Amino acid sequence: MTEQTDHFDIVIIGSGPAGFTAAIYAARGGATAALFGGVAPGGQLLQTMEIENYPGFVEPVVGADLMQKMLKQASRLGARVFSEDISAVDFSVRPFRLTAGAKTYTAGAVIAATGAQARWLGLPSEQKFIGKGVSGCATCDGFFFRGKEVCVIGGGDSAAEDALFLTKFASKVYLVHRRDKLRATFRLQEKVRTNPKIQVVYDHVPEEITGEAKVTGVNLRNVKTGAPLRLDTPGVFIAIGHSPATEIFKGQLNLDDAGYIVTNAELGTSVCGVFAAGDVMDTRYKQAVVAAGAGCKAAMEALLYLESTKN
Ligand code: NAP
Repeated sequence: MTEQTDHFDIVIIGSGPAGFTAAIYAARGGATAALFGGVAPGGQLLQTMEIENYPGFVEPVVGADLMQKMLKQASRLGARVFSEDISAVDFSVRPFRLTAGAKTYTAGAVIAATGAQARWLGLPSEQKFIGKGVSGCATCDGFFFRGKEVCVIGGGDSAAEDALFLTKFASKVYLVHRRDKLRATFRLQEKVRTNPKIQVVYDHVPEEITGEAKVTGVNLRNVKTGAPLRLDTPGVFIAIGHSPATEIFKGQLNLDDAGYIVTNAELGTSVCGVFAAGDVMDTRYKQAVVAAGAGCKAAMEALLYLESTKN
């Protein structure tokens, strides 16, 4: 049996703002471009209800709508968008080889834009109750807690945004943070502070999530006094940040201690011809607009690289 391969000038892995922007620039730059976006193209913004800091939208835009527009724009300009995940890469050969399902693709240049995944606390009781009251996605599961009390763990923008979103359904939202100050941006903090349904519980960490078939509540500990605090909430939403999605690049690209892809100023990685853009390499900003800008840069560099390898 002969192996089936398809070749593209540029293959982009990941379907957030970095990936789609890279696809738009690659296609407009005259390259054959393929984007592998997984079963639900859109990345983390699929879970963001309202974005009001992406330029060009006077009114807040729903994350999923913004991503649909990017997908349609990339497709209209000629990029092939595959609803599949790349499961393995081989950057030791030229052209580069990428596996999706049973098929192998080859590419002259690759842009890694796989983003980041939500992190979990790591409590055994957390894993036990995922889908039974513990959730990592308020947008997905908030609806199930209509009229009930819930808590959100975390103190950043994601936690603040989740808490605000959950007030649409829940009768009360506890925002549990391990410090005495939220990390979330000023505007989100203001919204949290002025929302009568939200109570911020500072200086507390979850020790155990309890329940039988489903969650009945969470046991907290005050990090300053050691005193226990019990919240009887059937919903526990975890929003403590993200880890880069770099599993497939291990052993192929240089990663830093936290697993982010290491890039130079031109977004080149440790392998010439492989570039990275967005949250998978951004340890500092992690903003949709920054990721989009990085996607543009990576595609421009990939086009220059392809040009330099001709003849
Ligand atoms: P983040 O900014 O890294 O915040 C994570 C939060 O979880 C921090 O408050 C952290 O506490 C807490 N935390 C971490 N590990 C914990 C643990 N094991 N137990 C308890 N608490 C823990 O992550 P994020 O909120 O997901 O945001 C990531 C990036 O996306 C940020 O740059 C953010 O601005 C951006 N973002 C933007 C928007 C928006 O603009 N609408 C929405 C969502 C995210 P400490 O504060 O003590 O470190």
